[in-house]
Amino acid sequence: MYYPKNEIEFNEMFNTEQNCIDYLIAIRWPQGFECPICGSIRYWKKSKNRFECIDCHRETTVTNGTIFHKSTKPLMVWFQAIWWIAAQKNGVSAKGLMKILGLGSYKTSWTWLHKFRRLMVLSGRAKLQGDVEVDEVLVGGKVSGKRGRGAEGKSLVAVAVEVKGGKTGRVRISKISDASSKSLIGFIEKNIENSSTIITDEWSGYNKLKEMDYTHKTEKATAIDEDKEVLPNVHRIASLLKRWLLGTHQSYLNKNKMEYYLDEYVFRYNRRTSKSRGLLFLRLIEQAAKTTPVTYKEIISQNHGS
Ligand SMILES: [Zn+2]
Repeated sequence: MYYPKNEIEFNEMFNTEQNCIDYLIAIRWPQGFECPICGSIRYWKKSKNRFECIDCHRETTVTNGTIFHKSTKPLMVWFQAIWWIAAQKNGVSAKGLMKILGLGSYKTSWTWLHKFRRLMVLSGRAKLQGDVEVDEVLVGGKVSGKRGRGAEGKSLVAVAVEVKGGKTGRVRISKISDASSKSLIGFIEKNIENSSTIITDEWSGYNKLKEMDYTHKTEKATAIDEDKEVLPNVHRIASLLKRWLLGTHQSYLNKNKMEYYLDEYVFRYNRRTSKSRGLLFLRLIEQAAKTTPVTYKEIISQNHGS
């Protein structure tokens, strides 16, 4: 599938509503129209964006059942928003997006960003493998708290990062309720392939790894080499994450929605070397085309993963 290589190409490709509709049609039905109700591929084209199924007679537009469903905003604005999200390396705040698109309300802007974060979660779910550093850190506040206890206004998150010859590979970050063995092992099983090597500090919460299908290595700062940092890669990620949360989302951070910000961070981090922001744009549109719509109400009431 073709995608814009830069801002100029983006502006040329999506300069009319119809161009956006046609692009979405090409992504959603690459082999041609398929009725979402009965699966039939026989149709009448009623208008440029309206298909009638010959077998069940249901009418469908290309936005039916996608995140654009029933939106009062033109696809052109949605595409601009997604392009902006993809093009900004460090992400964008709800206020920033509102300004750029000239959206009338903060609520719309905020809701859209959460819809986009959902798209990000869905792509790239292959588990980490090889040598993987794991640790738990507190994020979202200004001072460091104590291990295993959620300090005021903060979230405890588990961080896993692949280490390859001194360089970091992909990461996974997830909110956890505590630093118990159950939470940590659960996170590891969900995010890291069996027979990988897990590197942690000596916290007892990781002891169970020895009985599992993982190789477990522990690190500790020795008396001779006190300056040697334990788990340097995971801590570098954690400090980048904290800065990103403060820089991009500042006081808008909602603790209950932390998981979505973490997903956005992971999505961006794992694609940091991706040369084409346009490809990122395409991935988001592809995901948007097969993701059922969520409303503002659902976003504020749902928990992550439900
Ligand atoms: Zn049908």
